[in-house]
Amino acid sequence: MEKRYKYNLEATDKCPSCRHYVETEHHFLRCPHNQRRLLLLNTIDTVNKCCKKHKIDPRIKLAIHFLIRHLIDPKLKIPTDTPPVYTGLITDQLRIGPDTLMVGMLHTQWVEVQKEYLKFIKAKRKRKQAFNGIRNLATLLMEAHFQLWIIRNGHLHDEKKHGTQSYKRHQLIHTLRHLYQQRGKMLSADRDIFSRELADFEHQHTPTNKIRQFIQFAEPIVQRSIQTAREMNKRFRTITHYFGHDSRNDLHIHSQPEPD
Ligand SMILES: [Zn+2]
Repeated sequence: MEKRYKYNLEATDKCPSCRHYVETEHHFLRCPHNQRRLLLLNTIDTVNKCCKKHKIDPRIKLAIHFLIRHLIDPKLKIPTDTPPVYTGLITDQLRIGPDTLMVGMLHTQWVEVQKEYLKFIKAKRKRKQAFNGIRNLATLLMEAHFQLWIIRNGHLHDEKKHGTQSYKRHQLIHTLRHLYQQRGKMLSADRDIFSRELADFEHQHTPTNKIRQFIQFAEPIVQRSIQTAREMNKRFRTITHYFGHDSRNDLHIHSQPEPD
């Protein structure tokens, strides 16, 4: 995710699904991509089935609905007719962290409230019934979280979707453009590595691995060349006559890097 970008493993820190927001951990459950939203909304149906099967308190069910919807719309307010016990369940869960729900980290009070409910409806109780019911809820939420991760990775590795370029290729071209922009900061003698037009690489017929190979080859050269140009600039700033007319012009070019 974002960290992989920091450590240079990805060329962009943007989310592979929406390609708009920075992919922070916070964004993961809040990505507006249709498929990911839909999965969260479908989870509500799965919650309903689970609640029916395990005789879960209908108010607990509504509280879980609220917490899922709250991920999609953080401005959502707890319905005013919610009894304090259930408002407590929701606010405590949010206090632990709004993302904890989807990784199945439900606090123990959920089980206590469910126990009370089973007593109230005089359900024929089995051992640990309340605990097992809530645990089943937690498990299905975790599964939904995992499915989101699968969808996210699908978007990351999708090679050709609806005729658009793959995300990997998109990232590589992003790196490539950056390298081309650095040209002006390099020693002129090293700029030959960019003899091929950028547009040529960007052309859809250029295989993705060719772009990758070029980046692997060019990146260290660009870095070294910029570094050398900087050092030369420091050392020779005042001894302009040391260079012939042409080289001085060259130096002039690389000693005054173009702004990015
Ligand atoms: Zn996103």
